[in-house]
Amino acid sequence: MKEVKHYICEICNTEYNERQKAIDCEKNHCKPLEIIEAKYISLAQNMKGYPTSISVKMADGTIQIYKRS
Ligand SMILES: [Zn+2]
Repeated sequence: MKEVKHYICEICNTEYNERQKAIDCEKNHCKPLEIIEAKYISLAQNMKGYPTSISVKMADGTIQIYKRS
C-alpha cells in the first residue's frame, strides 16, 4: 500500500500534490486590510440597503474595488 500526501492552501482550499505549490499559493494571496469607501444608491433603487461597491485597502498597499453581482 502506498501512502499519498496532499497539501491544501488554507486560504483558497486548492489541493496540491507538491508542498511548495501550496506554500506558493498561500503566499500569493493578498489579504484585505480595511474598507476605505462604500458606495450606496437610494432607498427607491435598492431596498436592501447594502453598498453597491466597496473600495478595499489590501496588504500590498493597493486599493481594489469590489462590486455586488
Ligand atoms: Zn490558495
